[in-house]
Order: sequence, then C-alpha cells, then structure tokens
Amino acid sequence: MKKGIIVGAGIAGIAAAIRMAKKGYAVEVFEANAYPGGKLSAFSLGEYRFDAGPSLFTMPHFVDELFHLCGENPKEHFNYKKKDIACNYFWEDGTTLTAYGDKEQFLGEVEKKLGVPSASVKKYLDRAKRKYDLTENLFLRQSLHRLKTYLSFDTLKAIFQINTMEINRSLNQINEAQLQSPHLVQYFNRYATYNGSSPYQTPGIMTLVQHLESHYGTFVPKGGMVQISQSLFELAKRQGVRFQFNQKVEQILVEKKKAKGVIVHGKPHFSDWVISNMDIFPTYKKLLPKHKMPFNVKREERSSSAIIFYWGMAQKFPSLDLHNIFFSDDYQSEFKAIFQEHSLSDDPTVYVNITSKDVPEDAPSYGENWFVMVNTPADYGQDWAALTEQLKQRVIKKLNRILDVDFSSLIEEEEIMTPPQIQMKTQSHLGALYGASSNNKMAAFLRHPNFKTSISNLFFCGGSVHPGGGIPLCLLSAKIATGQIS
Ligand code: FAD
Repeated sequence: MKKGIIVGAGIAGIAAAIRMAKKGYAVEVFEANAYPGGKLSAFSLGEYRFDAGPSLFTMPHFVDELFHLCGENPKEHFNYKKKDIACNYFWEDGTTLTAYGDKEQFLGEVEKKLGVPSASVKKYLDRAKRKYDLTENLFLRQSLHRLKTYLSFDTLKAIFQINTMEINRSLNQINEAQLQSPHLVQYFNRYATYNGSSPYQTPGIMTLVQHLESHYGTFVPKGGMVQISQSLFELAKRQGVRFQFNQKVEQILVEKKKAKGVIVHGKPHFSDWVISNMDIFPTYKKLLPKHKMPFNVKREERSSSAIIFYWGMAQKFPSLDLHNIFFSDDYQSEFKAIFQEHSLSDDPTVYVNITSKDVPEDAPSYGENWFVMVNTPADYGQDWAALTEQLKQRVIKKLNRILDVDFSSLIEEEEIMTPPQIQMKTQSHLGALYGASSNNKMAAFLRHPNFKTSISNLFFCGGSVHPGGGIPLCLLSAKIATGQIS
C-alpha cells in the first residue's frame, strides 16, 4: 500500500487526510500539538467552555461533503443549525442593527433602522452575487497555477466580464458609491475582516464575501465550533488515518527533486508523498531550509491578527445575542493602525461571541462565556504585554459605555491570546489569522500554489496557500491539493 505523510492536523490537514485515505493510501499525520484542529480547537476555564479560534461558520456543506465521500451520513456525526440572526450591531451613537438571516427581513431592518431603501441594498447584493458566480469556479474550486484552469469556459467568461468584479476600486469606495448610509458602509466594510484584510485596500470584488453570508447563511455547530475539527478527526480515524501527536516535523526529506518523507525527532519517516498543512512561510524556512523561499511568500503582506479575551462573566446579558459587534467610531483609523502603523486603534471594534446563549452548559447557570476579539496587526515585535493591558481597558470602557454595566467587576475567569501566542500554538507566521492578506488586488494569484513544480510529490494545504484562509477555503485547499495526487 502506498503511504503519504501530512504535516499538521489543522482543519485542512485533517480534510486532506480523509481524502487521501479514501483514495486508498496509508496516511500518517504528524501534529506538533497534543490535540487536533490547530486554530479550530477549544478549552475550558473553570465552569466555562470556549472555542479558541473561529466562531463564524459558513458553507457547512463542505464539511458534509467529506462524510458523503466516505459513504457516511453526516447527521449521525455532525449537526448544525442555521442562525435566524447572523449578528447584532451596536454603534456609539445608539444605532443598532439586527442582521437577520432571512434576506427580506434584513432588507426591512436596514430600511427601518438606517433609512436605506430595500431596493438599493438588494441591487448591491445582486451585484455581489454576480461576482461570486463569475469567480467561484476560477478562484475557489481549482488550482490557479495549472494551464488548464485558464483554458476553461468559466475563466474566459470571468475575463470578459472583468468590470463586473470591480477590482480597480477598494471595497470601501464601492460601498460608499453604492450605499447611502455611513453605518451601512461600515457594516459592509466589515466583511474585509473575514479574510484579515482592510476595506480601504482590498478590492471591490470582496463584496462576494457578503453574498456568501446573505445567500448561504451562517450556522452554529451543535457542541461548538470545535465539533467541526473533532468530527472530521473521528471520521479520519475511521478511514484508517494514523495521527501522531506531540510530534513536530523538523524537515521534509527531498532527494533528487522528490519529496521522500519527513524527519521527526531526528528520525526519518519515508512516504510516497508529503502534504504540508503548516503555514507556508515556516514550511520553507524550517522544513525546506535548502530550498529558496519564493519571493511572493517572503514579501506577501500578512493578514490581520487578533487579541482575544476569553472571559467567564458572572452575569447574563439578555440584550445580546450569540454574535455581537460594537463598532468603532473611527473605522478608517482602525485599519490604518492595523495595516500601516502596526499598532492598536484608540477606539477598536469589539466582537463578542457568547456560545452559552445557545448551549447553556458552556457556562454556569448565572453567567455567560464571552469570547471578546479585537483585530490587531500581525506580530512585528510590538510590546504585546503593554498593548494587551491598554486594549483591555479600552474594551472594558467601551462595553461599560454601550451596555451601561461595570464590566471589570463581572469577569470571574480570564484567559488572553495574543498574536505571538497564535504563532506559538499553530506556527502561523507572525500570528496572522488568515495567512496573507487580500489587500493587493492580485492577492489570489500571488498565494502559493497547492503543489511545488520543482519538487515532485510535495503538496500544500491550509489557510496560507491557495485559495486562502477561513474554514471553507481551507477545506477547499485540501480538495485542490489532494486532487493533484492520483
Ligand atoms: P491551522 O489551524 O493553522 O493548523 C496548522 C496545524 O499544523 C497546527 O495544529 C500546528 O500545530 C500544526 N503544525 C505546524 N507546524 C507543524 C510541524 N512542523 N509539525 C507538526 N505539526 C505542525 N475562520 C473562519 O472560517 N471563521 C471564523 O470566524 C474565524 N475566526 C478566527 C478567529 C481566530 C482567533 C483565529 C485564530 C482564526 C480564525 N479563523 C476563522 C481562521 C481559521 O481558523 C483558519 O483559517 C483555519 O482554521 C486554518 O486551518 P489550517 O488548516 O490552515 O491550519
């Protein structure tokens, strides 16, 4: 039986393992941590349970697809429900907005709260849909680095309709031109953060991200986000995949321009192919030291990172929902700070996710588990201890002001994650959440391919390579990478 090795049990590594086991290979996954899932993992603090990383789940059919591939019914292993309310929004001037999952209800809410006619927003969302339909096949479903991709009808169609994609103006410029309310512009600008980019730099094609959310909806997995990685980990084991935890790969063995296996704790492990799910930057730097790091990988701007406060709160907040955003009054400065100055904004946008709203067992009966996230720059050597303390005070002041409660007295458990810790736990270069940013309009083409032309039998999957970061794209990267191996 032919054998393959995967470096890392992030969500893309697990998905790649399932696909390759299904193709009939003996698959072994080496994972540096003691647990699977990488960024998609969970932990407990006293009586509070927290998902450590992602909290927004879109396109669950990509998870289901892996169960179907293995002839299993996903419902027997992994369940989720569509959310009626995607998120609640709060502005400092007292404006609030509920982003209903139902499109008509959402359009009605925008008209009522922000005074923007439904017809304008509908036209804007229809444009976003056209961009998604034109580019889905080209950018998300196949390698951008194979000639045959460019010879297809879909590609030609996309090229002929390049103007529809609005790549020559920023997302913010498109939003300002097409939406009448500054609050609505800010609301739609926020989607740039879904891949760690700035709305003032990322191109207008990014409105397709909001199409995904408004069209397909957002979902909550039963048992928390961690069930995505956990249920796929169990599926992989049922397919015969062998996981080796606490086993950090030190090098990828390359002989005569062919990947031959890996070295772990100084010992060689041989295989017919290797897939690296490690961030592409350290894959080159640490695992392939004799091979030149491609120019794009070296100089690509990293996506934003985050500081996360995991707070066990000794009080319930009936006015809040599962997902809540407290907007910054000066959104433009916030992104200037993150991407140009590598610093924190004085008035950050604060994202609060409370899973105990949906799963009461995630917190004691009197409290709630707050995942409080603020976007930050990646780690360029800032003094994170000082910045975190400063940020905590700003966040508490903002929440006190908007919700009219004394927060500091309610926090009974606390854990904090900073960009250097994200890098330490998952090897993500500079602690970026989504690999490279999409601030450059050519970003999709600059991302590293899922294979390496000069080394046969070496492949790549995960958020730092094509097609990019976030759970759905990571799952697609595993599909594209394994599609290169016959
Ligand atoms: P990773 O999760 O990066 O895992 C890589 C794995 O490889 C790790 O387990 C690591 O230990 C292992 N590894 C690395 N090097 C080695 C080595 N040398 N040897 C062995 N093992 C190694 N996405 C969304 O879709 N929705 C969200 O709401 C969202 N929010 C986020 C919030 C936060 C705080 C973070 C951190 C991320 C968020 N993301 C979100 C992004 C999403 O989590 C990632 O894009 C995705 O999980 C990355 O998966 P991956 O397969 O690239 O691997």
